[in-house]
Amino acid sequence: MKPIRIACLQFSHETVTFLPNDTTIADFTYPGSPARGEALLGSDPAGYMGGFVKVAREHAGVELTGITSPLWPVTGSGSGWVTNEAYEHFTGIMMAELAAQGPFDGVYLCVHGAMAARGIAHPEAELARRVRSVVGPVARIAGTFDPHGNEDAQFLEYADFAFCVKYFPHYDTRLQGERAARMMIRAIKGDYAPTTRTLKVPIITPTVQQWTGASPWMDLVQRALVWEARAPDLYVNVFFGFPWSDVADAGMTIQATANGDQSLADRAAQDMADFAWRKRAELVKAATIHPIHDGVAQAATALAAGATPVVIADPSDRSGAATWILQEIVAQGLTDTAIATIADPALLARLRGARPGDAFDEVVGGRLDPSAGEPVRITGRILAADLSANDPSRHWITVGFGQNCAVVLTPYLTQIMYPEALARFAIATADYKVFAIKSRVHFRRGFDDSGFAPTIILAEPEQPFLGTVQLEALPYVHLDLKAFYPYRDGDPA
Ligand SMILES: [Zn+2]
Repeated sequence: MKPIRIACLQFSHETVTFLPNDTTIADFTYPGSPARGEALLGSDPAGYMGGFVKVAREHAGVELTGITSPLWPVTGSGSGWVTNEAYEHFTGIMMAELAAQGPFDGVYLCVHGAMAARGIAHPEAELARRVRSVVGPVARIAGTFDPHGNEDAQFLEYADFAFCVKYFPHYDTRLQGERAARMMIRAIKGDYAPTTRTLKVPIITPTVQQWTGASPWMDLVQRALVWEARAPDLYVNVFFGFPWSDVADAGMTIQATANGDQSLADRAAQDMADFAWRKRAELVKAATIHPIHDGVAQAATALAAGATPVVIADPSDRSGAATWILQEIVAQGLTDTAIATIADPALLARLRGARPGDAFDEVVGGRLDPSAGEPVRITGRILAADLSANDPSRHWITVGFGQNCAVVLTPYLTQIMYPEALARFAIATADYKVFAIKSRVHFRRGFDDSGFAPTIILAEPEQPFLGTVQLEALPYVHLDLKAFYPYRDGDPA
């Protein structure tokens, strides 16, 4: 029997186009990245790639080839436009390897959907187009996506399948990878003939609104799950969209894929789009976000009342350097608080010889742009540090100050999703009662869904900075905000 040959590649980024630092070849290049062969296939066992590889290898006669691929850049999602040079560099390597190592029966594209690349209007669709041009019309192409993807129908003009994660936090990444493998192999064997419908829904939301652990976002997920449960071989995607990317295809997108049944795909997509539109007023106002001063005052009240642990999250910080919560914690004299993290690569570089126990008197964070705020002077003692790694992106310092407070300094935006993640910075969760973090929704994995924190407060600056819920203040060029609810003329304020 002839083997089924499948190539796997990854090119993922969630691009905040309003940040000043472009995402470069150097950002994608570090020990372990780019990855190829088994290193790529084994790079994310619990995620998209791991799910794809696991299910593909459950099928007899399937051969996987790991194409040289950059993993996520060191900047995480804290960087701007992917340079044209980086896009062409990595896709060029991929296409050359696909051509040299083919022919392939299928190609798996592990993408995000919110990459924005200079000079490339639809980076994921363009990747699919280039792959199609190399592997020919018969090969099956499947992509997996983050629900923050900014997508329209273009990707599926070149690819056969798109599977988008349903939950935020993104619990089902591995499941979507598994589906991509199973459905690609069924299609290769002639057991599935994908037919799709894509509908844009003109609703745009800041990501902090999109928590799927509560209505109405939960209801949107539930409706997609019901469609998939009751109609065999139907798959429904709900892209919530990513508004910090100034791209033409931002906003919400619904996709349905059926096995040869166009009418079923049409009906499911239309029903989902109609449902989202009916719920639009609730979708854009799902979360309550407090001004920073009030949020920190509420944390102090909860601390005094014993409603701890308290989480106070600033969803607005896109650079990692924002000091707004730190400023207020210092000003209001909040006690027993761990702040993780403040990005300050220059300070970490300057403190290269620092050791635990050293006195600390420095101004930290801020400065990067107006949204980062003013640097804050912290006087205290270094509790722990790791400045030894060859890779400066792994460096950090934890500084103790005030009345049992600690602040963690890192080189980049660091999103703390689980209390246990603080152990890396020598923060024992039992030692603190308030946790001030930079996250929109992902932190709910470990701090909310787990039952860890009885008090959860979202707070952001009142200024309409990049990252706040005030999208109308962003200097969009490619995206027409006025075409989207709730920013159209006549929409409720
Ligand atoms: Zn996401």
